Amino acid sequence: MLVAGNWKMNLDLAAARQLTAGLVSSIGKPEKTLVAICPPFVDLDATYSILHGSGIRMGAQNMHESDSGAYTGEVSASMLRAVGCHYVILGHSERREYFGETNEIVSRKAIQAHRHRLVPIVCVGESLAQRDADRQNAVVEEQVRQSLDGLTVSQGSELVLAYEPVWAIGTGRTASPEQVESMHTHIRSLLVELFGQKTGYAIDILYGGSVKPGNASELFARSNVDGGLIGGAALNAEDFASIVKSAELAA
Ligand code: PEP
Repeated sequence: MLVAGNWKMNLDLAAARQLTAGLVSSIGKPEKTLVAICPPFVDLDATYSILHGSGIRMGAQNMHESDSGAYTGEVSASMLRAVGCHYVILGHSERREYFGETNEIVSRKAIQAHRHRLVPIVCVGESLAQRDADRQNAVVEEQVRQSLDGLTVSQGSELVLAYEPVWAIGTGRTASPEQVESMHTHIRSLLVELFGQKTGYAIDILYGGSVKPGNASELFARSNVDGGLIGGAALNAEDFASIVKSAELAA
């Protein structure tokens, strides 16, 4: 099980420090669950100094696909490693929708993340129109195949997938446990096809989309649901700690 918090563009330095300290004391060191938080770039260094030695890892929310160079406003994989990141979220639907991130870009970023020993959390998920047209399986299949294109089997063993239906992100509308299990099972079969039985079964598939303390347990109980990518509820120490507890109980 892995529970990762995506803070998005929230919390300045003081607020990031305060939340991180609260999470370290309320979460402790879970036995069976990996926990990560993904603050904004400018908060990473300070966050890591609080997290260091705790049971919580750190990730970034995005990165550029190049080593360095004239890419104003961008951040590289090696920079993220240097400040203590273990994970990097790639292809979040907000990046795809507002910043034109395509599957091809995501795959180049995933390969680059591996070159710098960052574990990518690759996000996929259909829009409401695609779900209403019953096209969710085909849409997600194309995203998975193209976003993971070029990754080797050994890179697949250091990879996390996050299924986040766009209509459930930040809307308070959660996919039903049945919808989640059905999509995760579909993604599992694709991962087995792409990376083989051993690696394909070992990849954590997270669900994201309005996960809260009140619905985490029923989602985590489903097969092929290996944890959650949490947005809004990750900004509250008590709520996030409670979701981590649900993962511990389900593990
Ligand atoms: C997310 O943005 O990854 C997310 C799942 O957000 P929320 O939990 O707020 O729906």
